Amino acid sequence: MDLVGFCTPWVVYALVLALHLVLPAQRVRGYVRGADGAPLAYRLNGVPVLIVTVALWATACAQGLLPWDFLWVHRWGALAGAVTLGLVFSLAIVLAAPSTGRGFLAEFYLGRLENPRILGDRVDLKMFLYLVGATMLELNLLSFAAHHVLGNPLASSPGVLLYTAMLSWFVLDYLFFERVHLYTYDLFAERVGFKLGWGCLAFYPFFYAVGLWTTAALPDPGRPTWWLALAVVVFFAGWCLARGANLQKFFFKLDPNHRFLGLFAPGVVEDGTHRLLCSGFWGISRHVNYLGEILMATGLALVLGWPGVIGPWLYPLYYVVLLFPRERDDHRRCAAKYGALWDEYCRRVPRRIVPGLY
Ligand code: NDP
Repeated sequence: MDLVGFCTPWVVYALVLALHLVLPAQRVRGYVRGADGAPLAYRLNGVPVLIVTVALWATACAQGLLPWDFLWVHRWGALAGAVTLGLVFSLAIVLAAPSTGRGFLAEFYLGRLENPRILGDRVDLKMFLYLVGATMLELNLLSFAAHHVLGNPLASSPGVLLYTAMLSWFVLDYLFFERVHLYTYDLFAERVGFKLGWGCLAFYPFFYAVGLWTTAALPDPGRPTWWLALAVVVFFAGWCLARGANLQKFFFKLDPNHRFLGLFAPGVVEDGTHRLLCSGFWGISRHVNYLGEILMATGLALVLGWPGVIGPWLYPLYYVVLLFPRERDDHRRCAAKYGALWDEYCRRVPRRIVPGLY
């Protein structure tokens, strides 16, 4: 039993909590409303927390206190520690609230509390869980990449370095736009149970690095530059779709007349009470942001240069399995909320995810 590895996520998560509490934070109002009807207030400081954690980690490595590939060496122990912590957390957060009458298993999986907070309103647990997951993922990426470079000092794979840079971009992008995520499904439609709690504490930081987990020990596959360039283009095309759609909707929710990028007036469908965007990214398909996530994941799988190894493909596959049913759920939710207006939007924008196809 690797006790050191097992304890590592517990220590890292405690450090992230401490940094989240003490580092300066942006105070914003979100989209979800509290019991008093006012939008909930949040403290957001994801980027500083990530930077300080990585700086502390790198300092410990540079001082020789930790090997640069510490989390690679202890990956199975760390995974076991994170899985256990995720289970303990999920059980605790579910048992902390009275039953909503949906049966224990459903409540354990989906949660009972909608927006749990601790230390007064200082820590919103949903946003904290995403912060912890993102930070641990970044440390895993750096350690796994370090393992590859240490093992292949003169012949490191450019794909591994690009993968690490691109997935780090994904992490930093999420934390930079933390506020935009206050307007997403997880925040307004989900409760905190195993899915979100275990998902962020165990699945997100470890599974999202599955590409490196399964290829960091392999040598450089020697892919040509065009291959790497194609993978980078696929990744950033996906990023433009996902980030563009999220930002367009975010500004629209803040101000329905907002001109996207200062140029494009929103095209909308409206019924006198509600308005829905049907222009720009939201006119291409109803969830082109999901296509963007899948393309980003595909770019990551490709860039490693091992198309015959199954590991890197598990990541885009996971997005397909997650996002296609999620689109159906969101469709039902929106149909119930917007009624005939949603039907009108669906007529104007018939494709669910993939323009012209699906
Ligand atoms: P969306 O951002 O697509 O949000 C859906 C909601 O947006 C709907 O419930 C509705 O909410 C509103 N909406 C839908 N259509 C319109 C429209 N035409 N005009 C205005 N509002 C509309 O989905 P998610 O919240 O699921 O995802 C947010 C982001 O997070 C996406 O980019 C997604 O890909 C990403 N994501 C990333 C994951 C990851 O692990 N990397 C996992 C899951 C998601 P309302 O009632 O407020 O109008």
